[in-house]
Amino acid sequence: MDVKLESLMMDLYYQKNRMQMQNYIFDSCYDITAIDERIYELLSNGDISYPFLLRTFVDSSPDCSCLLNRIDNYENYKKNISDEVEKGSIKYKVKIARAMKEDVIALMKARDMVAKALDYKSYPDLILSSDGLTIDELKKVLNKHLDKHLVDVKRLIKQHQLEWSTWFRDLDNICDKKENYSSNEYVQKVLTKFDLNLRSKIKLEISSELFASFVIATSKNDINVFIRESSTLGEVLALFHELGHAIHYSMIEGDGLKNILPSSLSEIMAVVIEYIATQILLEGDERRQLNEIMLIDYTRCAISSLFELDLYEKIGDAENLYVKHYTKLGLEVNNPSVWSYDSFRSIDPVYIHNYVLGYTIAKNMYEKLKDTYGDDYGKWGAWLVENIYKHGSNLHVQDIMNLSL
Ligand SMILES: [Zn+2]
Repeated sequence: MDVKLESLMMDLYYQKNRMQMQNYIFDSCYDITAIDERIYELLSNGDISYPFLLRTFVDSSPDCSCLLNRIDNYENYKKNISDEVEKGSIKYKVKIARAMKEDVIALMKARDMVAKALDYKSYPDLILSSDGLTIDELKKVLNKHLDKHLVDVKRLIKQHQLEWSTWFRDLDNICDKKENYSSNEYVQKVLTKFDLNLRSKIKLEISSELFASFVIATSKNDINVFIRESSTLGEVLALFHELGHAIHYSMIEGDGLKNILPSSLSEIMAVVIEYIATQILLEGDERRQLNEIMLIDYTRCAISSLFELDLYEKIGDAENLYVKHYTKLGLEVNNPSVWSYDSFRSIDPVYIHNYVLGYTIAKNMYEKLKDTYGDDYGKWGAWLVENIYKHGSNLHVQDIMNLSL
C-alpha cells in the first residue's frame, strides 16, 4: 500500500477505535458505519495482504457494517421485552436472541459472500488463512484439547455444580471472595515481576462502574486499559489478561499498518500472560481456583468454536447443533435458540478459538521458560520482548506455536 494510503488507513483505524471507546465508556452515539464506509472504499482500491486488514475489509463492507452495528446495540432488539424480565437472565437472553436471529444469520451469510468473492472457500477459511491455518488443522487442535481435558472438565463441572443457564455466574463462584484487593497493586506486581518498565506507557482506569475489563489503543502511544474492579478473584484473571494485551501493544517496535496486531496474536498473547501471571504471582487455593476456571472456560471455548465452524456449513440447523456441541460438557442444555445472543457469533466471529490456542501455547511457554530461566522472571520478560512482542505482526500464529515448544 502506498505511504499516503497507509497513513490514511492508520488514521481511520485509530479514529474508529476512539469512537468505539467513547460509545462503550461514555455512551456516546458515534455512527461507526460512516467510518466503515471510508475504510471499505480505501481498502477496495488497495492492498489487503496484512492479516488484520482482511478481517477489517470484510467487516467494513456495506452489508456487514450495517448489520454489525445494529447487532452491537441490544437496544435495537428490546422492543417486545417487558420491564419485568430481569436483564441478563436466560429469559432475557432468549428474547433478545430470537429478535436478533435473522440479523445474525444475514451477517454470517454476508461475510461468507464477501469471502467467496475474494476466492476463499468460506468466511472461516478467509480468517484462518490470514493466520496461516486451515479449518481442518484448527479442528484437529480443538478436538485434541477436548480429548485431553473433557473428562477432567466434566468432573469439575459436577463438583462445582455449574449449570449452563448460569455459566459465568457459577464460574465466578468457584473463587473465594477477595476483600480489599487492589487492582493497582496487581498491575504493579506483574510489571515488576517481568521487569517491564511500562507503567508510564499504559493509561490505566480502574472502576467498579465498568461493564467489563478491556483495552483499546487509540494511537500507537495511547494504550487505554480499563479494569473493572470488584471483590472477586476472577477479576484478577481478567486484569492479567487485559494487561497482557497492553504490554504487547506497548512493546511493538516500528509504526505503520504492518505493526497493527491481528486479533489472533493479540488474544493468544493475552492468554499467555493471564496463565503465566497466575502461576508465578498466586499460590495455594487462589492459583488452583483460577487454573480450574481457565481449564473449564477454555474448554467451553473449544466447543464454541467447533459449533461455530459447523454453523457456517449448516446454518439452518443451528439449534440442533448448539445442543449437540454444548451437551459435551455433560450439562443439560435448554433454550438452544439463545445461540444467536453470543457476541462471538456476530461481533467477534471466528475468534473464540484463539483463547484455546492461547491456552495451549501458554502452558508450553510456561514450562519452557521455567526450564530455561528458573525463577529469574526478569529474563522471562526479556525473552517475551525479544522473541515475540517487538516483532508485532511480523510473526504468524504458527511461529508463536513453534516458539513455545
Ligand atoms: Zn482479550
